Amino acid sequence: MTYKIEKTEDEWKALLASKGAEPGAFQITRHAATERPFTGKYEAVWDDGSYHCICCGAKLFDSDTKFDAGCGWPSFDKAVPGAIKDIRDTSHGMVRTETVCAECGAHLGHVFEDGPTDTGLRYCMNSASLDFHAGKK
Ligand SMILES: [Zn+2]
Repeated sequence: MTYKIEKTEDEWKALLASKGAEPGAFQITRHAATERPFTGKYEAVWDDGSYHCICCGAKLFDSDTKFDAGCGWPSFDKAVPGAIKDIRDTSHGMVRTETVCAECGAHLGHVFEDGPTDTGLRYCMNSASLDFHAGKK
């Protein structure tokens, strides 16, 4: 699979370090690892702003789509149109839908069809994959 933004592993590591990303960000975004629940810095952030890909900066979510799913990861009911690519994930003996950044392929988390709002979606994201920009737009 190819993306508009492609870098080597060393380039991603250097970029994430320069952005002050969380220690697990490289393994999560480039190797589909999952952070432990209730450990991410954005899990309980409710400020106005937008959430961007930690790797390439693409805008993924508005803060008004974030909700408390009680699962320990930042959860959203709607993504910015076209910002996220869904991939069928059959790892760990489950069929899930993995979500990656459409621009750079960064692993973000999974999306489930059991959301509590009218979109019916629950984007369960790794906090370490996100970069919060405060303020409206
Ligand atoms: Zn990205």
